[in-house]
Amino acid sequence: MNTDNKRHVAIVGGGYAGMAVAATLASANIRVTVFESARQLGGRARGVIYNDTQLDNGQHILLGCYRQTLRLIEQVGGNPERDLLRLPLRLTLHNHLEFKAAYLPAPLHLVVGLLSAKGLSLRERLSVARFYMAMACTKFKLSTNMSAYELLDSHKQGDRLARLLWEPLCVAALNTPLGIASAQVFLNVLRESFGGSRSASDMLLSRMDLTALFPDRAAAYIKQRGGEVVCACEVRAVLPQDEGIALMVSQDSLPAVQTRSFSHAVCATSPTNAARLLSSLPQLKDVAEQIAAIPHQPVYTVYIQYPECVSLPLPMLGLDRCYSQWLFDKGRISGQRGLVAVVISAQGRHQDCGHELLAQNVIHELREQLHIKTDPLWYKVIAEKRATFSCETGLLRPENETPLANVMLAGDYTNGDYPATLEGAVTSGILCARSIIDRW
Ligand SMILES: Cc1cc2nc3c(=O)[nH]c(=O)nc-3n(C[C@H](O)[C@H](O)[C@H](O)COP(=O)(O)OP(=O)(O)OC[C@H]3O[C@@H](n4cnc5c(N)ncnc54)[C@H](O)[C@@H]3O)c2cc1C
Repeated sequence: MNTDNKRHVAIVGGGYAGMAVAATLASANIRVTVFESARQLGGRARGVIYNDTQLDNGQHILLGCYRQTLRLIEQVGGNPERDLLRLPLRLTLHNHLEFKAAYLPAPLHLVVGLLSAKGLSLRERLSVARFYMAMACTKFKLSTNMSAYELLDSHKQGDRLARLLWEPLCVAALNTPLGIASAQVFLNVLRESFGGSRSASDMLLSRMDLTALFPDRAAAYIKQRGGEVVCACEVRAVLPQDEGIALMVSQDSLPAVQTRSFSHAVCATSPTNAARLLSSLPQLKDVAEQIAAIPHQPVYTVYIQYPECVSLPLPMLGLDRCYSQWLFDKGRISGQRGLVAVVISAQGRHQDCGHELLAQNVIHELREQLHIKTDPLWYKVIAEKRATFSCETGLLRPENETPLANVMLAGDYTNGDYPATLEGAVTSGILCARSIIDRW
């Protein structure tokens, strides 16, 4: 191996995980090259322009407990307090449920919030409190695998609570329906967001597009430290060498496939692409099969541009028993007045409608539920059919390390406490980078 490549890490994929690996290595003065097949960075959390309007490929929500993501945004030059709209926890299902964290230190913010929640009977509120206390007593750890539904049922949460509180929370956090969602991962999310300080449960909404929020800044940070970030460049194959790793890369601007050598390669693609890329390596056949078996769930986002005078009663609110699950007022979040993002997570009947019909159903719901009578100027449905892994009971997730010492994995799907989230992706990337740094 060329001495130049002695400590040169290739990162395949410029999503949040890949950019977290690269920024962490670059901060330790390790040379990195990021290859991203798309023309822009961000992967499943990327900015999209439609009708001259800045959108994302899906409306995202971050939480106050996303410690690693917030720290890394700051490390690469962002300012989370300025870049994100911070809202104290408030779950509003229009006309059905209103749960607002009180302005008190934890855990009083939740206790008082729950006791004064509207839309739940006293019995239901006490039942939620008992469930939470029981989980806190076990430090949110289960001794057996079970679904979130089974766990809640065994604590007598009842169908109404499941519909109004637990299902919307579980689908929003795990992108997986209660009936199949891993109870342990659901508890991990409750522990992280509700078991810590008051700010941990805050909801953070990006005021800028998701590519600008972190990946673009990380790219500038990496370049300042001598690293390279190449977009529109697909890695076609990973080839282990006697020493190091060779990658076959095909760049849009170059006629032929090139081979480039590195000391390490980190595969930071989505599970589907990782399985495809690694399946040709005999040493990684089992890992590739494990990754290929990971099931997925969709997320649909319906963007609706109304005239500027239209706004929602809150920056974020939910609807009960509708196609539309969560509505976001982009006017209040990012100054895009009249723009509403409607999020529909996980599998469901919305997958049976075409985009046109789904958009019409959503517009109808906004008219019926929120009395938005004005016709929209335009709308756009973005369907991410494999948005996240399906966070199911007993799902086996691969580690960052693979049987090949210099090929590593990073991504929201690697083994960890989190469901498929930005924090899961960033944490995986940081762990992967630290493991490389520790070896040196
Ligand atoms: C619609 C939607 C809504 C979501 N909502 C939320 C939310 O509210 N909150 C939250 O925390 N999370 C949310 N998520 C999940 C979050 O976006 C993901 O967990 C996270 O972005 C995954 O990042 P990643 O880096 O692991 O993978 P990816 O983002 O998939 O990045 C992988 C990158 O690798 C590139 N790539 C693939 N193959 C190659 C190759 N051969 N060569 C070079 N490059 C390659 C891809 O182009 C991509 O850019 C949502 C996801 C979606 C899709």
